[in-house]
Amino acid sequence: MKEVLPLIAALKSELGSGAVLTEAPDVDGFTEDWRGRFKGRATCVVQPSNTAQVAAVVRLCAAHGVPVLAQGGNTSLCGGAVPAADGIAPVIVNLARMRRIRHIDAANGSMEVEAGCVLKTIQDAAAAEQRLYPISLGAEGSCQIGGNLSTNAGGTGVLRYGNTRDNVLGVEVVLADGTVWNGLRALRKDNTGLDLKHLFIGTEGTLGIITAAVLKLHPLPTHHALGWFAPVDPAAALAVLGMFQAACGSKLNAFEMINRRQLELVIEHVPDRRNPLGDLHDWHVLVELADMQGSDELAAAMQHTLEQAAEAGLIVDAVLASNESQRAALWEIRHSVSEANKKAGVGLTTDCAVPVSAVPAFIAQATRAVHAIVPGLDVLVVAHLGDGNAHFIPFFTFGAWESLSDAGSTGAALKRCVNDVAHELHGTFSAEHGVGQTGLSEMAHYKSSVELTLMRAVKHALDPHALLNPGRLLPASAASPSPTS
Ligand SMILES: Cc1cc2nc3c(=O)[nH]c(=O)nc-3n(C[C@H](O)[C@H](O)[C@H](O)COP(=O)(O)OP(=O)(O)OC[C@H]3O[C@@H](n4cnc5c(N)ncnc54)[C@H](O)[C@@H]3O)c2cc1C
Repeated sequence: MKEVLPLIAALKSELGSGAVLTEAPDVDGFTEDWRGRFKGRATCVVQPSNTAQVAAVVRLCAAHGVPVLAQGGNTSLCGGAVPAADGIAPVIVNLARMRRIRHIDAANGSMEVEAGCVLKTIQDAAAAEQRLYPISLGAEGSCQIGGNLSTNAGGTGVLRYGNTRDNVLGVEVVLADGTVWNGLRALRKDNTGLDLKHLFIGTEGTLGIITAAVLKLHPLPTHHALGWFAPVDPAAALAVLGMFQAACGSKLNAFEMINRRQLELVIEHVPDRRNPLGDLHDWHVLVELADMQGSDELAAAMQHTLEQAAEAGLIVDAVLASNESQRAALWEIRHSVSEANKKAGVGLTTDCAVPVSAVPAFIAQATRAVHAIVPGLDVLVVAHLGDGNAHFIPFFTFGAWESLSDAGSTGAALKRCVNDVAHELHGTFSAEHGVGQTGLSEMAHYKSSVELTLMRAVKHALDPHALLNPGRLLPASAASPSPTS
């Protein structure tokens, strides 16, 4: 057992006692994840107000041999932002107080923000300057940009704008020894050696704590056309995607698919959500076009493409949003899936990506693989079809889950069989959520020893004492140093 009282006293003296939480009722909300599936232990939670304070915290933790866990909005779906229940309890560095938008340069199309800025605040601030920050996801009212960067978050805008990595120009990072690296450049071109910011994007706080970032802004589309249609099956949805790409090019803003059971759960468990179509069809797609001008042209392109798809026998029903509130209501359905699933039961969320062309095969094969283990089990499909990322979710009611005699091993086998299908189709088990705690065994299983060795070498170079987020992202190897050894 570590003697942590001197560290806590030093943290209070550095940050002020109001920024150091030690009592269970204050700490509890930070040690459990959004879905209530992980609960760990923390030495304390600190809430620094600026980069210098983050650096001071890291230096103090290093000196006392206590690991550090960065935390943003705590919306991770893979247990990434909460501590483990065993090992040395870390100090949680919660970034929520660092939420300033430092600067918007509309002419440069860039915005400098602190890491604790909530994603929705960033989207709104950009829109106020007629600019778009295009990362959008169901947790956008709670997740923070530091968390988005650390997980290289995806969401519904990847088809047109890429993921978080594609929308960042610079970062500021506190390194494992408390050094601050100021990489807050706002350049679109900079070929001066290693592009170091990418070391910290998507590495889940294991190489440094991101304290600020310069984000890339885009022109704000002001006109939209949104359609909701029922394709015959996923292969038909893919064919319709091709038709929209051919007809509308870069105006295609989103192409999101869910299956019937997923829509049913949203309607049953989230107030004010309704089926947009007359019947509960097997498959549903939300498709959106967006541009800076020409509402009528967008609506005409949407209508024409859907009519062509219907004539080709690819879709069985469709509806177009005729105003902004209908458009918002249709997006609400899509953004409600996580909330619905959390209320409805136990969803074994997977986060696979395969080549876009292989999504229909992935869904068919994964369904067969799941039913070979649990015949007839409900499966939910939530696919960012336009970028090949399909959340394929074997789903149990709470009662069915509790009645399983071996829930842990059944759950693991179900996820593994889905991930195996993705792997066989040259895909990945983690497209956008990250690895966190839940993906450690999959990292060990699927990553080649060459890749793991390279990753461990980078980790050791930047964090030789394994101080930052130990037990995340990288599975332990015999040669790994234990935290702070
Ligand atoms: C309803 C819902 C819908 C979601 N939809 C999507 C989706 O469509 N696409 C998607 O990609 N994800 C989605 N997610 C997952 C999650 O929201 C994202 O991964 C998000 O980017 C996490 O941000 P956060 O601030 O909550 O980070 P946290 O959960 O707090 O942390 C995530 C990881 O990042 C690290 N971290 C956090 N802040 C920092 C920092 N400043 N410096 C270094 N490391 C840090 C943490 O240690 C942890 O490893 C969804 C989650 C929910 C609950």
